[in-house]
Amino acid sequence: MSALLPWQQPQWDNLQSRIAQDNLPHALLLTGRRGVGKLHFARQLGERLLCSDDQPAPCGQCKGCRLISAGTHPDLKVIQPPQDKSVISVDQIRELTHYLSLTSLCGGYQVVLISPADAMNVNAANSLLKTLEEPPANTLLLLMSDRPSALTATIRSRCQVINFEKPAHDSALAWLKNEQPALDTKTANTVLELADGAPLRAADMVTQGALNQRTEMLDDLEQIAAGRCDPIEIAKKWLKLGKKESLYWVYGWLVDMVRMKVANQPPYIANADIASRLSKIAATIELPLLYKRLDQVSEALRLADNPSLNAELLLEGVLIGWTPRR
Ligand SMILES: [Zn+2]
Repeated sequence: MSALLPWQQPQWDNLQSRIAQDNLPHALLLTGRRGVGKLHFARQLGERLLCSDDQPAPCGQCKGCRLISAGTHPDLKVIQPPQDKSVISVDQIRELTHYLSLTSLCGGYQVVLISPADAMNVNAANSLLKTLEEPPANTLLLLMSDRPSALTATIRSRCQVINFEKPAHDSALAWLKNEQPALDTKTANTVLELADGAPLRAADMVTQGALNQRTEMLDDLEQIAAGRCDPIEIAKKWLKLGKKESLYWVYGWLVDMVRMKVANQPPYIANADIASRLSKIAATIELPLLYKRLDQVSEALRLADNPSLNAELLLEGVLIGWTPRR
């Protein structure tokens, strides 16, 4: 996947004309839902700037392009939370500041991608602020965020915002089917719905077998609700599947169940393909209790990133609520 994503053409054209006018800002904040392709766009822009052939598309031949495809270009830096962590630390930003104080190793732009920018802790964000206020020449900082409101106003105000809306359904569907040729249209539509219309997230879900995982987890939940298995054992199992992913599924099901309760024929159900199973569960739960469980899962999702909390206990807390009352 190296080409520009089709729904990103307007933003791309806009930046190309700014490059042509030598009017590119020092810092851009790319916003839009998770999986809409912000990081992909940023990489494309970085490649464009580091290609020595001054064309709208990178040539793929020059030294800069070759270094990029080898993943070793010294002037392209990607800052992300370290593996198994969810926070970008102040040390990472200090290292970046030091790197930017050196001149470009290839004599051109220095491009920095920070993804997701809202993963910076307060100290890291404050440390970045100095660079945003007085950026070195020929530097482009690209900050990605699907939660820009989580960034401090001082960071946001120093970046020009480029927003990516959810692509049109037909465009997203065509792209997804091209990426995942084995996918039939019905399943592609389902995954796209579940990914909130974000094509890259949908493609990831297919690659990771998320639909099978969802079915397996719904089996587990039905078993717990029927009193046929131990929520504590299931919490252990779900933790291995991913605490946030598990909680997102339960959250999505609960939202659908609420939709079913408040309208006889709800106009929209995200998990449409398993609606009959969800409807059976919903029939056994009163609306106020559904809302209560929804609150509980939202709270668990909010706490899921807190490293000092025991994730297994968090999942147990959610699942124990589904056991039948004696
Ligand atoms: Zn090139």
